[in-house]
Amino acid sequence: MEVRGREITNALLRWGEKNLRDFPWRGTRDPYRIFVAEFLLQRTRAEQVVPAYEELVRKYPGFEELAGADPSGLLEIIRPLGLHRRANLLQNAARIIKEQFGGLLPPSMKELTSIEGVGTYTAAAILAALYDLPAPAVDTNTLRVLGRVFGLEIKESSRKKREYRDLIESLVPKGQARLYIYALLDLAATVCTPRNPACDRCPLIRICHKGGGNGL
Ligand code: SF4
Repeated sequence: MEVRGREITNALLRWGEKNLRDFPWRGTRDPYRIFVAEFLLQRTRAEQVVPAYEELVRKYPGFEELAGADPSGLLEIIRPLGLHRRANLLQNAARIIKEQFGGLLPPSMKELTSIEGVGTYTAAAILAALYDLPAPAVDTNTLRVLGRVFGLEIKESSRKKREYRDLIESLVPKGQARLYIYALLDLAATVCTPRNPACDRCPLIRICHKGGGNGL
C-alpha cells in the first residue's frame, strides 16, 4: 500500500512537471495573495477566478486595505463569480486576520478554520501552497480521482469521512505538498474529468482501478 501510494504521488509529480496549468497565484508565496485566491476558488472554476483575483489584489494589495475596502467596490469585483455573500465573508476574514492575528495569516489548520468562510479544504490548500504542509485537501475533484484510482465508492458525504481524509493526507509527499496538490487538481480538471475521463493519456492508468490497471 505504501509502495503503491508512492507510485501514485511520483507519477503525479512527474506529470505535473510538464502539465501544470498557469494561474497568477501559483507563482507567488505571498500569504495574502494565496489566501485571496483560495477564498475565491471555492466552488468556482479557476479560469473564472483569474480576472477577479487580479483586480482584487491590484486594488487591495494587503489584508489592511481589504479590511478597510468600500464594500460596494469589493462586491463589484466579486459579483461575476456569482456568490455575493463571499464579498462580505472575504472582507470579514481580512478584518479578523488584521485584528486577531496582527495582520499575519495564521499558519495552522485550527486557526485558519476558525475564520468564517474558511473550510478544511481551503485551509489545506493554503497550508500546502504557502508552507508545503501535507494537510488533506479533500474536495469533489480530488476525491473523484482518488476514488477511481482506489476503486472506492464516492458520495457527497465522503468528503467528511475521516478515512478518506486520512487516505488523501497519506499520499501527500513530504515537502512537496504544493506541487502535488496542483498536479492532482489539474489532472482532475483536464484528464480525470467527471464525464469521459481521458484514461489513455493519464499518468495513473497503470495503477488505476477504473482505468483497468492493477489497482491497489
Ligand atoms: S486512469 Fe482514468 S479513471 Fe483513472 S485516474 Fe486516470 S483518467 Fe481517472
